[in-house]
Amino acid sequence: MKIKPLLSCTLLSLAFASANVSANEKAHWGYSGNQGPEHWAQLSGDNLMCDGKNQSPINLTGIIEADLSPLTFNYKQGGEQVINNGHTVQVNYKKGSSITIDGKRFNLLQFHFHAPSENHINGQSYPLEAHLVHADKNGNLAVVAVMFKQGKSNELLAKAWQKMPNHAGEKYDITSKINVAELLPKNRDHYRFNGSLTTPPCSEGVRWLVMKDTVDVSNAQLKRFKAALHGPNNRPVQPLNARLVMQ
Ligand SMILES: [Zn+2]
Repeated sequence: MKIKPLLSCTLLSLAFASANVSANEKAHWGYSGNQGPEHWAQLSGDNLMCDGKNQSPINLTGIIEADLSPLTFNYKQGGEQVINNGHTVQVNYKKGSSITIDGKRFNLLQFHFHAPSENHINGQSYPLEAHLVHADKNGNLAVVAVMFKQGKSNELLAKAWQKMPNHAGEKYDITSKINVAELLPKNRDHYRFNGSLTTPPCSEGVRWLVMKDTVDVSNAQLKRFKAALHGPNNRPVQPLNARLVMQ
């Protein structure tokens, strides 16, 4: 068992090796009160994009038919650690898994969860949403989102959360074999749109791929996740503005 305090307040710090600003220089943020989503842009000069025009999450509506370029998954076994960073419970993933989209390879860095879901589909919210975060060699991001509905126990979550880090800063090595492909619905049909990180600094230019089919999570698993987060960790839906959601 390893428990190690995390230095950074930013969810995606692990995605950016170059983000070498210390925790003291970063503003803390949260999901309620003075540090809540409506204040993010004012909390720090780094967060100005949180007031941008292409923000995530969104309510996916007015979906248009498009000739989407193929999306392929090249996922291998690779869950290494599960960490509670105070904003989510995240599984850091070994190098070597990727998706290919628009002819570019995006490497899987980590996956994490939000309860309730951040994106809505045609006005519907879900009890849990997974974000599989990928980056290409230039640092462009692509996030695959999977919605959960309440049902059977989810086998991958059972393995990933075998030891649940219940407090911010807790981190455990994962001893089970984890392949994130097990988290995807069988049918890979999905919606696409451009958006942002859903947490500060809310950087835009993120390719979003939201799977149409849901996967199951049990009530007991949901309760465990919520207990570890001590409150909802979903940013409210943001205006669609000029964007289109495609399928
Ligand atoms: Zn997320």
